[in-house]
Amino acid sequence: MKELFRERDYTKVGYFQSVLEDAGIPTIVRNKHLTMSGLAEIPIPEFFPALCVINEEDYERAMELIRRRHKENIVGADLEKTCPGCGETNPGNFDVCWSCGINIPGAAQ
Ligand SMILES: [Zn+2]
Repeated sequence: MKELFRERDYTKVGYFQSVLEDAGIPTIVRNKHLTMSGLAEIPIPEFFPALCVINEEDYERAMELIRRRHKENIVGADLEKTCPGCGETNPGNFDVCWSCGINIPGAAQ
């Protein structure tokens, strides 16, 4: 297991996890339970959710995917959607809210 990045905002960690899983790279998020219990609100990086590849040989490929997708996200930043159920921000290509799980109307595909 090798850590790719950690980020206070679990939206980003969950988003990139789905990007990598879609590419067939097995990943795991450390500290996810801390996020869910609200401990990630404490501004100590040790508590932030961390996205990791399970197989270290996937690391370079995973980082490349993250970099590429990150650039696209900057270009398409206005595609973010606000969930009508809980008010959390979701990436524009999410059709189900990462936070509360309801369908987001008008999600870009
Ligand atoms: Zn929601």
